[in-house]
Formats: sequence, C-alpha cells, structure tokens
Amino acid sequence: MSEETTNNKDFATRLIHFGAEIDKTTGASSVPIYQASTFHHFDLENPPEFDYSRSGNPTRQALEDYIAMLEGGVRGFAFASGMAAISSAFMILSAGDHVICTEDVYGGTYRLLTTILNRMNIGTTFVDMTDIDEVKAALRPNTKAVFIETPSNPTLKITDIREVAEWAKENGLITMLDNTFMTPYHQRPIEHGIDIVLHSATKFLGGHSDVLAGLAVAANESMAVRLKMIQNGMGSVLSAQESWLLMRGMKTLKARMEASEASARRLAEWLSQHPGIDKVYYPGLADHPRREVHEKQSLGYGAVVSFDVGSGDKAKQLLSKVNIPLVAVSLGAVESILSYPAMMSHASMPREVRLERGITDGLVRYSVGLEDIGDIIADLEQALK
Ligand SMILES: *Cc1c(COP(=O)(O)O)cnc(C)c1O
Repeated sequence: MSEETTNNKDFATRLIHFGAEIDKTTGASSVPIYQASTFHHFDLENPPEFDYSRSGNPTRQALEDYIAMLEGGVRGFAFASGMAAISSAFMILSAGDHVICTEDVYGGTYRLLTTILNRMNIGTTFVDMTDIDEVKAALRPNTKAVFIETPSNPTLKITDIREVAEWAKENGLITMLDNTFMTPYHQRPIEHGIDIVLHSATKFLGGHSDVLAGLAVAANESMAVRLKMIQNGMGSVLSAQESWLLMRGMKTLKARMEASEASARRLAEWLSQHPGIDKVYYPGLADHPRREVHEKQSLGYGAVVSFDVGSGDKAKQLLSKVNIPLVAVSLGAVESILSYPAMMSHASMPREVRLERGITDGLVRYSVGLEDIGDIIADLEQALK
C-alpha cells in the first residue's frame, strides 16, 4: 500500500508539474497556443526545431511530452481522435500481416479491423484475451501484433497484461493496449511490457466532453521512430487549440478519477443489490471475474459500470426516464453518461457477434461523473421503477 501511495503522490504532483507548465520565455502559467502552420527559418543552415505544424508544433509537443511522462514511455504522439491514434498505430503493419485482438474490443476498433484493414490484407483473429491458451492458439506464421483492451468494453473483462506481453515478446510480436478506461492514473501498461499505449483522450483524459483527441505512447525508440513517421506521413495530428484544451483537462485527472471511482464503487454495490438488475459488471465488485488479475496490474477500478436490465425494452425505458446522465455515446466526463452499446458504440457489430460477446439488448453502460452519488442513485431508482 505504501508503494502505491507513493506512486500516486508522485503521479499527482507530476500531473501539475509536467515540465511545460510555466512558459520559459514569459513565465506564463499555461502552455502558449502556437496557432501557426509554419515557422520562419532565421538561418537556412540551421533549420528551426519546428518547421511545419503537421511535423511538429510546440503546443502539441508539450502535450506529447506530458502523456509520455505519465505513461512512462519514451515519446508521445497526439492525434485528431482516438481512432486516428489507433489506426495510425496499425499502420506499423504491412499487407499480409495478421493481428490477434481482444474480442470485445471498442466498436470503432472492431470496425477498423473488419471493414478497412481487412481490405489492406491485414487479417484479424478475435480471441477471448482472458484465456492465454486461446491467445496462443491464434498465432500464425504471419502474426505481427496483439491488440489488448483491459478492462474490455463494455463487459469489463480482465486480461493479464504481463502474461500476454511476455508471450508476445517471445514470439516477436508488437503489443498495443487501449488504456482509455483506466488512464495512466490507474494503469501504466508499459510497466507490464506493452510496446504502444493508446488512448481516446476524448474520454477521461480530456474529461469534459468538449474535445476529441487521441494519444499514443511508445515504450521504446524503435516504436517511437515508426510512430513519428506515420504521424507525419498520414497527418491526422491534433491541432494546437485542442492540444491546449486537452492539457487543461488532464491537470485534474487524479481529482476527477478519484471522485468518480468512489461513486462508481457505490453505484456498482447498489446495483448488485437491486432486484431489477440481472447482472453488474465492475472490476471492483468482489465477484467480478479475474478481479485479482486486475488488482495486480492496476491501482483502481475506474468509473465505468455496465449492467443488464434484462431486455431491450427495459433498457430503452431506463434511457428515456433518467434525468441526471447524458444519454449518449462516450464516457469519462465530469457529467455522468449513460450509453446503450447495442444501439450506440457496438451498433456496427453484427447482432449475433454482439450477443456472443455478452453485449445483450438489456446491457447499458454508466460512466459515473462528478454529480452527488446519492442523486445518481435516486435518479436510477426512479427510472428503474
Ligand atoms: C471512444 C473510444 C475509442 C475511440 O476514440 P475517439 O476519440 O472516439 O476516436 C477507442 N477506444 C475506446 C476504449 C473508446 O472508449
């Protein structure tokens, strides 16, 4: 516990004092927004550090250094969205390569792999990543990468990061992990052997439902060089304005995560006692499958609770009766967000595939915000009646 406390304390301080928090030339208390597409060459023989904003922008650079430091990687990269970050990371692969991916992966990642990358002749095998034997059985001579999401989305299945990463390393595979749900405050996958950490920063990192952004962090120089070339070559970079706004949100990550998580724990306990609820998914619940694996690799349980109200009709009724949460796609904001995977985030997944993965018609996902937990519970109570 003492080590965790120290880590958390260090992390809290580093969130505020991340290196660029004071502008070196003016002493300004926030990173300047360099709203410029290009940079003057004062001396042709010595080109400037930044020469064109797709290749590099000082505001974006501050954000990229910030996330690299928080995740413990060598270099960070900021993209226009989470999917821009994820699709760019997949550009490391070549035609003919094969990927092993978590089966209940984020819907957009599933769509990317099954409708776009498949046309580039990059094949995917979706596996229950919680079962290492299933992961091993999916290995082919052309397998190049393993894509992990843990806890998975939306049923919060737990993958043993170190176990998969070690096996992948033995087989020369690149490992990528979508850390959106946990954030580096709770989970730092590079410490467990992952090569590339990915984020939809639109969620907890931004935290206010007002910025769309994606981040990637490379664990080593070889990954960093490849990601840099792809980021510059494909050009789906984050703008200076959005980079600034994201940094502004990230400074309060710990305060927001802590408060939301405390409420999420109470919500999960309350839901699991409720007679109208068939099933509750939350890694913090005593009976959540592989909770001990999660506790080994993560410092918290997060703020997303999924639960099954039994049928599509009941789910729709609940969504129409709640007053506190935003009924929407997305998560990880100051306001609570209630979403309906079957018709929202996982609508692009065929129904039978969805059902196989436990994403039933009655499953809803509650991302707990910063409202009073008593009010959140009372609101759900009336909506479930
Ligand atoms: C939202 C989300 C994404 C996609 O990010 P965008 O910013 O919407 O492009 C990827 N992974 C997870 C887990 C997400 O929740």
